[in-house]
Amino acid sequence: MDKLDCTVAIIKNARSNRMGRKDILKVECDIDTLNLDVLAFIDHSITVNVIKAGEIVEKRALTLPQEIRDVLHCHNPRCITSIEQGLPHIFYLADAGREIYRCKYCDERYSERHRG
Ligand SMILES: [Zn+2]
Repeated sequence: MDKLDCTVAIIKNARSNRMGRKDILKVECDIDTLNLDVLAFIDHSITVNVIKAGEIVEKRALTLPQEIRDVLHCHNPRCITSIEQGLPHIFYLADAGREIYRCKYCDERYSERHRG
């Protein structure tokens, strides 16, 4: 995210009757310039509010991305991404219910969780 002229605000622990609490992300720019997949991976319970001219024009609920590219790195030393430099690091959603991602090349499970 370089040279983006936009405002992003995350509201933590906003009240929500349905979920108890939720985090709200406010964005003041073209939403298509943001990598929402990465945000969704970090926390797909975030609601993204798109703000233009001071008004909320759109609310987007994030869903887990089917594929994540160049965000996670495979820790398998025998994986081709560890051997060959320059390959994209691609993980795919193997189990949406348990939020498990696996390396597209070697099926190594990504185990570190970023949420919490
Ligand atoms: Zn791998």
